[in-house]
Amino acid sequence: MVNPFKPSPLQKLEDEFLREKGIELYVKRDDLIHPEIQGNKWRKLKYNLFEARLNSIHTLLTFGGPYSNHIYATAAAGRLFHFKTIGIIRGEEHEVLTPTLQFAESQGMELYYMDRESYREKDDPTNIESLRTQIGNFYLVPEGGTNALAVEGASEIIEEIDIPFDFICTACGTGGTLAGLVSGLKGKNQVIGFSALKGADTLTPKVSELVNYVTGFGYTNFNINFDYHFGGYAKVNPELIVFIKDFKLKYKIQLEPVYTGKMFYGLFDMIKKDRFPGGSKIVALHTGGLQGLSGYMNYFSEAEIA
Ligand SMILES: *Cc1c(COP(=O)(O)O)cnc(C)c1O
Repeated sequence: MVNPFKPSPLQKLEDEFLREKGIELYVKRDDLIHPEIQGNKWRKLKYNLFEARLNSIHTLLTFGGPYSNHIYATAAAGRLFHFKTIGIIRGEEHEVLTPTLQFAESQGMELYYMDRESYREKDDPTNIESLRTQIGNFYLVPEGGTNALAVEGASEIIEEIDIPFDFICTACGTGGTLAGLVSGLKGKNQVIGFSALKGADTLTPKVSELVNYVTGFGYTNFNINFDYHFGGYAKVNPELIVFIKDFKLKYKIQLEPVYTGKMFYGLFDMIKKDRFPGGSKIVALHTGGLQGLSGYMNYFSEAEIA
């Protein structure tokens, strides 16, 4: 089995376009960390699992949608590291489970469903208390997995990169991974986040707050680009799908349309528009998330994406 504690590889992309632009581009392949506990979801879970174990808590409870990479990773990690796992899923129970939820169940995760209205209030302390009364004690991993321990886990990505670089890029949802990169860099270089969500204007202050909490410093060497969300979370268009297909043909790297496809699309567009000085060395983080592809097959034919 792949060892999730081993550094993930750094792969250089080479082609005519990048040579002409004078850009050196490397991909940090966190999609290769583990076949099931991929990418940033493992980074974010790691110290949370240590913390649960340290406190002798044997059950993990978390939240997510029916296609959530975080639900998938938590279920797999629970099985691998012997935690009982409970997933509170947004929305109604459907007769046919999504591939993500089928997998989660196969790993032993207990699934409960919460209507959308209650789900919005899920973090309310009285709700958490009532879950504890119903279920018993558990270690709470927030939706998307982002908390201070997650940021610490994600900051370790930086230590693993053994080349000098000028920019590092990541896709953003909750901003936990971005906060980890900023924390790990301690003020050096520039971090660019590509938001997978539309106009999340609370995202930048949230990242600053996480960085401040974890490092004690108010680093400002990051920015979040909102130009490449393609209309919002999980929204796609044919151009994005074509880009993902071409990317796989050219570089033999699979992307998905929710996060990594949008980031790489945005990054290549910025390179095309000369937004990076010639000679720049850029690291792009592949945050994984490929489990979701099987779910998207409900929307696109396999030939369109894979
Ligand atoms: C969850 C996820 C992200 C977003 O990470 P945040 O830390 O929430 O910003 C990015 N890419 C992939 C593949 C993900 O699964």
